[in-house]
Amino acid sequence: MLQVFENLSTLHSFRQSLLQSGLSLGFVPTMGALHQGHLALIERALQENDQVICSIYVNPTQFNNAQDLAKYPRDFENDLAQLQKFSNLHVFLPNDQVMYPAPALLKFDFGYLEQVMEGHFRPGHFNGVAMVVSKLFHLVKPTRAYFGQKDLQQTRIIHRLVQDLAFDLELVICPTIREEDGLAMSSRNRRLSPSERIAAKLIPDTLFSAREVIQVRKNSIEEIKNLVHKHFEEAGLRIEYFEIVDRFTLLPIENLDNVKEVALCIAAYLGEVRLLDNVIFGV
Ligand code: AMP
Repeated sequence: MLQVFENLSTLHSFRQSLLQSGLSLGFVPTMGALHQGHLALIERALQENDQVICSIYVNPTQFNNAQDLAKYPRDFENDLAQLQKFSNLHVFLPNDQVMYPAPALLKFDFGYLEQVMEGHFRPGHFNGVAMVVSKLFHLVKPTRAYFGQKDLQQTRIIHRLVQDLAFDLELVICPTIREEDGLAMSSRNRRLSPSERIAAKLIPDTLFSAREVIQVRKNSIEEIKNLVHKHFEEAGLRIEYFEIVDRFTLLPIENLDNVKEVALCIAAYLGEVRLLDNVIFGV
């Protein structure tokens, strides 16, 4: 039977009982509207830990756009129904009062790591992410925490958060789970119209073909970028950014000769819906 903790005292007593019995705890933070990508993180966490907590909380402080927050899909009943089948899984389902009894004053600054891509186009986003993840880490005290490579920049930010604040936990980054046509699973995909959903295939198609161009034909960075922008223009879709970066530092790569592992990162709009994706590979 799935236990749902809605307040800090029930979460705390559960955590204390695990500590006393020496059991390990996996943690999967989510914003709900669960899909197979989330479930894959939960399954991995269940394989590697005695017990697992999945949190479901749409964190307002990481939205820099009020419309995006208002329209973010929420489907808690269906989320809980999807989780019923798992043993040793528990849900932390806090509300805003539990997470932010007072508006946070503390600010995070991740320097160069947040000046590119998501950090550049969504000012304040990673401050909100770092705030909620720090609070969740303190409350849940996980042995291991699981995040998706789908949000690559977020994984790098959290990596630094854990390092800089000495959180005593292991970070586990899991591969991106895709739909059959290649589109990365995302809660935001629910907001796509049928025609936008079909058009969204251009995102993975572009990433995979750019990867091939880099690996096989060794074109220049500028040529690849031009090609990607051309694909999107021809399809009438808006690209917010397409970056070729070092997979660890996330800094743009000027010349492919000196790098070992590259990430291609994209944010694009399908109508009003902003989708993110990336691929990582060796060159
Ligand atoms: P979200 O609910 O979108 O905040 O995502 C919660 C966690 O699930 C984050 O660590 C995401 O990176 C991860 N995630 C989201 N989509 C996918 C996916 N398609 N494959 C793997 N992990 C994902």
